Amino acid sequence: MKKQKECDVCGKLVNVDEWGNGKCNHCGWFQNSDCLKFPKVANPPNFISLNKAKQNHAKGKNFMPSYNEFLNLIERGLEFGFVFNGKKYQISSDTLWQKGSNNCQSFSSMDDVKNAKLEGKLLKNNWKNIKNLEYEC
Ligand SMILES: [Zn+2]
Repeated sequence: MKKQKECDVCGKLVNVDEWGNGKCNHCGWFQNSDCLKFPKVANPPNFISLNKAKQNHAKGKNFMPSYNEFLNLIERGLEFGFVFNGKKYQISSDTLWQKGSNNCQSFSSMDDVKNAKLEGKLLKNNWKNIKNLEYEC
């Protein structure tokens, strides 16, 4: 049987599973009990905190993390996939890898992650051009 609840961000009805998890088709927020319990912390499968998501939604913004919020998630050991300039990449606190290629950059520390480059330009400066950000494991 299908269950529904009101989205924690936008209030529209969302189909959820037996644990109350499900993606809102209206705003894109993933209903998740951890995000609800810790509204100030960004927790997967979302990229930003519930409180921030509510603020962004009120301003008509999406739920893309800022570059610094993204770095915090990397520092916590989370890994991401994304698309830049039509190419797929994977990034963790150790490496930035262009999928299906030998193009790989290694990091020795979190400070070093800030040197991550895409096609010769710092990831930081390309952040607005990142698409399809998603968690990988
Ligand atoms: Zn919603």
